[in-house]
Amino acid sequence: MKNFNNKIKTIIILGAPGSGKGTQSALLSEKLGFYYFETSKVGEEKINRAKKGGYVSIDGKKYYFEEEKKLWQSGKLWSPPFVAAFVQEKIKELALSKQNIIFAGSPRTVYEGEKIIPLLKKLYGKESIVVILIEQSAEASIFRNSNRRICELVRHPILYSKETIKLKKCPLDGSKLLRRKGLDDPETIKVRLKEYRERTLPLVDFFKKQNLKIKKVNGEQSVADVFNDILKSLT
Ligand SMILES: [Zn+2]
Repeated sequence: MKNFNNKIKTIIILGAPGSGKGTQSALLSEKLGFYYFETSKVGEEKINRAKKGGYVSIDGKKYYFEEEKKLWQSGKLWSPPFVAAFVQEKIKELALSKQNIIFAGSPRTVYEGEKIIPLLKKLYGKESIVVILIEQSAEASIFRNSNRRICELVRHPILYSKETIKLKKCPLDGSKLLRRKGLDDPETIKVRLKEYRERTLPLVDFFKKQNLKIKKVNGEQSVADVFNDILKSLT
């Protein structure tokens, strides 16, 4: 990419549910060749593969997969130590194979930030991290979430917009488009937005204290316009 700042090795995309984090991260990953770290997908896979009664033990405390699953289904965030542990593990693996990373969904609490940012600084360098904050009103977030679909095959997120309203099949692989049961119900979305405001947004101050570059992008535009603004902010 022309004018891309080559110091950038890890990009953290922050935004409310329905702000298009997933869509933008997938596009950026394709454009820049960065690894797309989709925290919710990695976590869900762990939970779905877990045996009944299974847990992970962190600092002497047990985190049961079934409990984490219930939190997630109700719109709440996973226990921070549970997420931080598998995210740290994956970051170390990616750094070993020298892969640059785009995070959509990590860190999601200040606790996770405290675990993840120092690790990224150590493995990728202090100047390598950029945070992109996709800004969007609560109304827009609720509207987009309740109209969001994902594809059956790869779970490509299809954000609601005038360009996608008539789509019946995934434009990338042709599989059926579905709604995410439970997670995108209006009541669950309200919980998710509250979690975002109260537990994720405080990360902005934490990032400032960590001297990270934070770029703000207006999320209430078409997918293409948001993408172009993000690319501009990376030059
Ligand atoms: Zn698809």
